[in-house]
Amino acid sequence: MEKLPCEMDPIAIASPLPRRSRQARVVWGSRVVTVGGDAPVRVQSMTNTDTVDAIGTAIQVKELAQAGSEFVRITVNTPEAAAAVPYIREQLDRMGESVPLVGDFHYNGHRLLTEFPDCAQALSKYRINPGNVGKGDKRDRQFGQMIDAAMRWNKAVRIGVNWGSLDQDLLVNLMDTNSRRAKPWEARQVMYEALITSAIESAHRAEKMGLDGNQIILSCKVSGVQDLISVYRELARRCDYALHLGLTEAGMGTKGTVASATALSVLLQEGIGDTIRVSLTPQPGEARTQEVVVASEILQALGLRVFVPSVTACPGCGRTTSTTFQDLAKQIDDFLRAQMPVWRVRYPGVENLRVAVMGCIVNGPGESKHADIGISLPGTGEAPAAPVFIDGEKAMTLRGDNIANEFHQIVEQYIEKRFGAAVVSAA
Ligand code: SF4
Repeated sequence: MEKLPCEMDPIAIASPLPRRSRQARVVWGSRVVTVGGDAPVRVQSMTNTDTVDAIGTAIQVKELAQAGSEFVRITVNTPEAAAAVPYIREQLDRMGESVPLVGDFHYNGHRLLTEFPDCAQALSKYRINPGNVGKGDKRDRQFGQMIDAAMRWNKAVRIGVNWGSLDQDLLVNLMDTNSRRAKPWEARQVMYEALITSAIESAHRAEKMGLDGNQIILSCKVSGVQDLISVYRELARRCDYALHLGLTEAGMGTKGTVASATALSVLLQEGIGDTIRVSLTPQPGEARTQEVVVASEILQALGLRVFVPSVTACPGCGRTTSTTFQDLAKQIDDFLRAQMPVWRVRYPGVENLRVAVMGCIVNGPGESKHADIGISLPGTGEAPAAPVFIDGEKAMTLRGDNIANEFHQIVEQYIEKRFGAAVVSAA
């Protein structure tokens, strides 16, 4: 029998499932950044400067950190790059930037970490690719040298498997096994198995050597959305190491952003993933920090983290033929984002601010009332007046050519009044 409205169960509120991974710790000096367990999902990024250019690299690391990256990875591919790492760390410390540095090693990491102890010490985490540590009998020995360095300097490692550089011996073995199956798996499924086996077996080998499990983070990166979801679901089922999540070689612009957001959102919603990176190819002239912006927005959209104030803006339609509200929404968004490095300290909690910039009377006043501060601009044919709503109440109406500047000032005053008070009262 159909239930009466008063007997109906409330609709379940969607939220990400709790994560099941154990917690890892990444240490730099007195700073400890936890990953996994109940720690927030962390944002990572990677520089694209030549690491030998210590100043240029330090500047980009700082930019990425200021944009919200909580770890920054740098390429360590040559003796010159390894020699530059301590200077990069030194520059960052001088600039007051304590973001942990992660060294990205392939092929010669065992030598660089052994021959450049200052480099090994200055990094907070080593990324080890089991597919690129060496072949045949060298593989275990060279992998072991990197784990030795991690234990000697008390560093975390990310065992980062990538389908573009899979351990070929392992893959061949698994393909042989597959060919003997009564019903052979699809080649893709064998590849999934190779990725997961390589990561977990390498982690177990590192633990057997004495590395603590809470110093290990795993990743298995592929570039297809459904492949990534398949691999990480199984990886999370088979182990409880903290997991780094990312679509490798995501691509440029909209394609890279959408593919990363799609894959990561499905997994994060299922409680899988403890750190993320969005591997965007920068478009010509685009800032490297865009990958941090996208990663932060994914976490913020899922309700997992709050990094910056949100600006709600309508898409516009035939009711608004001017670009005034688009310009204003962009200006406000850029302004709030640019201020965040300073505001995080000066205005605790400001990241929770919600601003609305709307194009006409249809949804403008309603959406503006839902925000902390909102403006409903006049659509085509409406009276040239823009009501401003503060904390759900209409506070004033702006008119004339200076609406954008006046709204800007109103937002600043609101932030000072609401979030500046927290500093004063705490002092
Ligand atoms: S708020 Fe007005 S201008 Fe914006 S999309 Fe809705 S109807 Fe169009």
